[in-house]
Amino acid sequence: MNILIFGPNGSGKGTQGDLIMAKYGASHIESGVVFRKHIGEGTDLGMQAKGYMDKGELVPDEITIPMILAILKEQGEKGWLLDGFPRNMEQARKLKEALEAANMDLDYVVEIILDRDVARNRIMGRRLCATNNNHPNNIFIDAIKPEGDICRVCGGALSARADDQNAEAINKRHDIYYNAEDGTLAAAYYFKDIVKAGTSKTVYIELDGSGTIDSIKETLLGQLK
Ligand code: AMP
Repeated sequence: MNILIFGPNGSGKGTQGDLIMAKYGASHIESGVVFRKHIGEGTDLGMQAKGYMDKGELVPDEITIPMILAILKEQGEKGWLLDGFPRNMEQARKLKEALEAANMDLDYVVEIILDRDVARNRIMGRRLCATNNNHPNNIFIDAIKPEGDICRVCGGALSARADDQNAEAINKRHDIYYNAEDGTLAAAYYFKDIVKAGTSKTVYIELDGSGTIDSIKETLLGQLK
């Protein structure tokens, strides 16, 4: 099973991605994780990518595209869930060409739809519990709003992650994601148009990201075969 997943930061994409992984056992390929691994290992590619990543900019296509396409080819029968790529039109076109050339099917494209201001609040309102990071606490979401700095689930101490509070960095990432001319949404719509044209077997799934994690999971599971 080969799947692409799109969603802005703050949409719960990682959580839904894990669900897809659990269902199909495909390899989870996250472009950001691949870059961070290169940086950790001190490879040439990592050195080249680091400066762009530190500034919140996209790593140039000449570096990113061959790196990701090579990883997809290595996966074979197991299939993949690709997260974080494509992020612009050039990457989308090159991915489509590479899939055709390798005779690889694209089974699903999943798009999690969420308003930009809601996505930003989700990130900036997130509070981490000292006892368990998975305890849901968010000062901007009524259903999981803690009282003061105390975890709703266990009473542990809450704190905000520094990078969740960096409005400039969040805005930069969202500028790239919500750009429907040449950014990540343009890449998603490129595949959506292909699916609409009816010439491929790919199924395009749109999920309303404003619901709870569980309700989104249920909708997603209902649509995956
Ligand atoms: P992420 O963890 O997905 O937010 O990615 C972290 C950083 O890696 C991004 O801010 C970019 O600098 C770089 N990156 C990840 N995926 C891509 C991509 N498809 N194209 C270019 N740069 C990317």
